[in-house]
Amino acid sequence: MAFNLQAELAARKEQGLFRQTQVAQSPQGPLMKINGQSYLTFCSNDYLGLANHPVVVEAFKRAADEFGVGSGSAHLVNGHTDYHEQLELALAEFTGRESAILFSTGYMANLGVVGALLNKQDAVFEDKWNHASLLDAGLLSGARFQRYLHNDLDNLQTRLARSDGRRKLIVTDAVFSMDGDSADLKGLSTLAKQHDAWLMVDDAHGFAVLGDQGAGLCEQANLNQDDVQILMGTLGKGFGTAGAFVAGSSELIEYLTNFARPFIYTTAMPAAIAAATLASLDIVKNEPERRVHLQKLIQLFRAGAQNLGLTLMPSNTAIQPVLVGDAKDALHMSEQLKQQGIMVTAIRPPTVPEGTARLRVTLSAAHSEQQVSQLLDALKTITIRRNT
Ligand SMILES: *Cc1c(COP(=O)(O)O)cnc(C)c1O
Repeated sequence: MAFNLQAELAARKEQGLFRQTQVAQSPQGPLMKINGQSYLTFCSNDYLGLANHPVVVEAFKRAADEFGVGSGSAHLVNGHTDYHEQLELALAEFTGRESAILFSTGYMANLGVVGALLNKQDAVFEDKWNHASLLDAGLLSGARFQRYLHNDLDNLQTRLARSDGRRKLIVTDAVFSMDGDSADLKGLSTLAKQHDAWLMVDDAHGFAVLGDQGAGLCEQANLNQDDVQILMGTLGKGFGTAGAFVAGSSELIEYLTNFARPFIYTTAMPAAIAAATLASLDIVKNEPERRVHLQKLIQLFRAGAQNLGLTLMPSNTAIQPVLVGDAKDALHMSEQLKQQGIMVTAIRPPTVPEGTARLRVTLSAAHSEQQVSQLLDALKTITIRRNT
């Protein structure tokens, strides 16, 4: 019985931390059918409502007619089509960088970049709250791995000053995925320059959502490729499709093309995904009203939640967690919302620190003001019950 999996699974259940997949019977959108039930959902990363946008779907279908479904091989063999090429050029232009490279997922992009750039002679500095894929990337690279206190530049500075790593890489989420707050990219960039380090920013939750053009937190903070040498973005969230990219200098992208193993040794994303992403990129750029509406919903939700006495986080992004504390309480609240036909995910340890379980509300430009009010009304009934 060396592999006694049952005991660990039972312990997870006991702690209120057990997880299982939910089965959807409809496309992404505010109203979904999940496990056979209808729900108003507040748990998707489809921030602009593009995952099921007719223009994006049509671009996907047309490209599937032209190029089929499978790309058949890696980018460096014969899987890289015109659509992949166009998308890389378009993403470089969109982010104001010289060049860009596609990855099949954001997780792989992060493993690819950090693994290619660093080895055990080097040092990597990660914000304590970085996404799991960034932490894994740092650990797997073999570089000396340090986590600095969340958004604490003094703590990071001390660590940088003490380091004698050959290369020093600072790695951060732009928008922290479980809290919705943002990194001080300007401060990080200044610090990086002072210590001859590079800065890598993962803007999975900022792309499409932040910046006038939707080019994310770097656009908003006005930081170019000399300030943020490595910019990573995902396509499965605000863009509504799938995959990821890294943008930076031509030299960096050429280097990753040659040394990033999760780029080299994997099948290229389907051409139709690249074509669909080109269509969604057009919408991201040309329909800023989606971001304006989303911001309005964010303000509406925050004001309403504060009125109810709920604890919010310092976030002005689409991620608006309600802090609960205990994992079982969070799960219970999520269940109560579910009974009222509203789906909000309870986020529990180990994804977040012990004692900070939360309801992770995510808003989308596809939601209406009325739907946000409906969520607030439901939260009100739960809050009252908890306090009496
Ligand atoms: C979702 C996410 C990823 C992973 O991207 P995928 O394309 O879903 O693999 C990486 N980093 C952050 C911050 C994320 O939120």
